[in-house]
Amino acid sequence: MQDNYNRRIDYMRISVTDRCNLRCFYCMPEEGVCKMDHRDVLRYEEIIRVVREGARLGISRIRLTGGEPLVRPGIEGLIRSIRSVEGIKEISLTTNGQLLKDMAADLKQAGLDRVNISLDSLVPEKYKEITKGGNLKRVLESICVCIETGLKPVKINVVIMKGVNDDEIEDLAKLARMLPISVRFIELMPIGHTLQRYEDHYISMDSVMKRLPGLVPVDKVQGGGPAVNYRLPGAIGTVGFIGALSHNFCHRCNRIRLTADGKIKPCLHSDLEVDLRPALREGKGELGDALVRAIELKPQRHSMDNAGGIEGSRDMYQIGG
Ligand code: SAM
Ligand code: SF4
Repeated sequence: MQDNYNRRIDYMRISVTDRCNLRCFYCMPEEGVCKMDHRDVLRYEEIIRVVREGARLGISRIRLTGGEPLVRPGIEGLIRSIRSVEGIKEISLTTNGQLLKDMAADLKQAGLDRVNISLDSLVPEKYKEITKGGNLKRVLESICVCIETGLKPVKINVVIMKGVNDDEIEDLAKLARMLPISVRFIELMPIGHTLQRYEDHYISMDSVMKRLPGLVPVDKVQGGGPAVNYRLPGAIGTVGFIGALSHNFCHRCNRIRLTADGKIKPCLHSDLEVDLRPALREGKGELGDALVRAIELKPQRHSMDNAGGIEGSRDMYQIGG
């Protein structure tokens, strides 16, 4: 379906849970994590109904995210069911990679096409500090297993932050020299509680690119998305840059987001939400009409740059990135 600004909306990101086995400091508050009531979280049958209705409106690509999607039991079954929905051509997953190594083969078998793995540091102690307890070795093993399993292209999401991991830009990019992966540097976004720390840690994508001389532009990497992609001389993989603030890409935005508690967010950086639960649970109105309304509400562009963020809104773990 086209939105009011002639953008074709064919991609839905589904947050299956707000729970997570890590606590990355830019995503989740350290204390006072506000957890959704289990009764509010959509059941898998409800998610499938949304996917079916979405597919009828032209959604052909699905990404599962969270919180950490792999902590929700039965995720393979959800993938299998989504796979069987007519019109769905691709299923991908965003994960922190802590549990992925042992699940990759089953996920692939269930119908998962590819993964994005978040990794902000190659220094074990720093990784542990950023994520509040994460195990770097497990992520690196997961990356290798995914390559072997054929969940490709494997993409690595790096949120780059001044004074935290900006000393590792070259090392992180080097991963794409040796491995057939796409390493994507992402600008820190002022979302939820991150607003307070954003000024201290934000770095623009131009500053990151300057640190990587010799970048050669490449054609679209499979799966598209907002990244602008390059190859370093002699590299097998690619490096990408996602500058949501410095290089606005709203004019080619193709997505809507379903939160774990059943709200459609037409834009990541806006508090606008359309609640699907009345249609899903109480028979109030048609599910398809609610989805159409959400797409019609999609703003022309986000307001992060002129409002300095969206105070009081959800944190990233409650949206899915
Ligand atoms: N737990 C999974 C993971 O970490 O990949 C999926 C959910 S996480 C919310 C999705 C993505 O959002 C991750 O790549 C994470 O690094 C990114 N993210 C979280 N907070 C962010 C922020 N304030 N700015 C930019 N990216 C952020
Ligand atoms: Fe959890 Fe992912 Fe957020 Fe880190 S970025 S706290 S792994 S949801």
